[in-house]
Formats: sequence, structure tokens, C-alpha cells
Amino acid sequence: MARIALLTGGIGGIGTAICVRLARSGHTLVANCHPSEIATAESWQQARAAEGLMIPVIAADVASFADCARMVREIDERFGPVDVLVNCAGITRDKTFKKMEPAQWEAVIDVNLNGVFNVTRQVWEGMLERGFGRIINISSVNGQRGQFGQADYSAAKASMQGFTMSLAQEGAAKGVTVNTVSPGYIETAMTLAMDEGIRNSIISGIPMRRMGRPEEVAAAVAFLASDESAYITGANIQVNGGLFMH
Ligand code: NAD
Repeated sequence: MARIALLTGGIGGIGTAICVRLARSGHTLVANCHPSEIATAESWQQARAAEGLMIPVIAADVASFADCARMVREIDERFGPVDVLVNCAGITRDKTFKKMEPAQWEAVIDVNLNGVFNVTRQVWEGMLERGFGRIINISSVNGQRGQFGQADYSAAKASMQGFTMSLAQEGAAKGVTVNTVSPGYIETAMTLAMDEGIRNSIISGIPMRRMGRPEEVAAAVAFLASDESAYITGANIQVNGGLFMH
């Protein structure tokens, strides 16, 4: 039986590559999007269908526990219990700390950190009961090394690793692994839209002298989602071209 995978932020730049990769490796995939993205989700689904992949999209705000509970109930009823969860939804609200307002801080923590709790909490007990589960949290190099203007984002992404290591201990004897993938600079709409000078200066600081491709993040996620990674838990896989080594 195909395993059921839920990917939050599934129609974003990195999310799309992960969806395609997991669907091609035989998972029954459900992509989550934010409720404001429903129109985009339709054209996204058409683009996937043109590639031969039928991927259902379910809208839910990961910042809302109740909405996440509703989404997971719907997935349970339509497809069955979630075996693989990839927490990929994320936002930035960059500001130097002296200009950072409580609303920016709260928005980033609500989506990037509380969102991970809100979705994972819905699937965790079922995974423990069934004796199999894979949780993969998409963090960031900036959660490991910090970043000017990203105190909110770096705090949320760093916290994800503490969450990962704690849950890994709770799931280890029950066949449930919990890991983090920390991308560096990845070629998505956001990084491609950067001013060329800024882009080039970032690239010159990356030992591999290029940004990563979303497919390279997806490859790490696919490995962690597979049976081959059964003995890896509580880990953080860095996909950053050597930008930060820890
Ligand atoms: P993206 O903006 O293309 O994708 C993020 C997706 O999450 C979007 O579709 C967005 O609408 C969705 N989302 C935002 N808030 C949501 C909410 N409340 N509920 C449900 N969905 C919500 O960004 P991306 O570059 O593909 O990033 C994906 C993940 O990778 C993020 O967690 C990001 O922090 C992380 N990351 C990205 C990079 C990079 O260089 N692009 C580097 C390191 C880490």
C-alpha cells in the first residue's frame, strides 16, 4: 500500500519539488496550501497533472490548531492516516531588531514554529499506534548561524531542531523518526527575484559557488521519508553547498 504523505506549504518553491519527488517515489501525496492560495493551487494542480501527477491540495492555515485538526480529519476520511509529514510552510518578515514589531515576530513564530506543533500534533499518536512514521521539518541554515534582520525567522527555525530532537526520543522505540532538513540559499522565485548584485555576492560566499536547486532539498527529504533512513532520527541534514558546516 502506498504511504500517505502530507506536505505543508506544498505548492511553494521547495514544496513543489518535494511533492513531485515523493509522488514519483510512490507516495500518495496531499499538498497543503494556505486558504489565500486556493486559486493558485488550481493552476498548480493543472501543471502537476500535465506532468502525470494527480496531487490533491487541501487548504488550511498551519497557524491555526483547529484548522489543522480539520485538515487531518479530512485526509483521514478521504485517503487514510498520514504516514509521512513534511512541515515545509514558512514565511519571512525581515526587519532589523530595532524596527521589529510584535506583529511581525508573532506572525513568523505562529507559522514557522507553532505551525509545526499544530500539524504534527494531529498525526503523532496515530504514527505511534501504527508503529511507523516519518516527520521531516524544513528549517534553514539561518536557524543554525543566525542572520542579520532575521531574529524572528532564525529563532523559529533554530527551535525546530530542539523540537525535532525531543520528538525523536519519544518516537524512537515506536518506529517513528523525526528529522530536520536545513536548506541554504535555494533557487526559488524569492531568490531569483533578488537584485543581481546581491545574488552574486551571496553566491561568492557559498563554497560551491552556486545556489541549491529545490530538487536537491527534495532528494534529502525523500531519503528521510524512505525505509532506508530507518536508523536516522533527531538529525539535521544540511543542504547548503558548504555555506555552514556543523
Ligand atoms: P515559498 O514561499 O515558495 O513556500 C512556502 C509556502 O508556505 C507558500 O506556498 C506559502 O503560501 C505557504 N504558507 C505560508 N504560510 C502558511 C500558512 N499559515 N499555512 C499554510 N501554508 C502557508 O518558500 P520556499 O522557498 O519554497 O520555502 C519553503 C520552506 O523552506 C520554508 O519553510 C522556508 O523557510 C524554507 N527555506 C527556504 C529557503 C530558500 O532559499 N528558498 C532556504 C532555507 C529554508
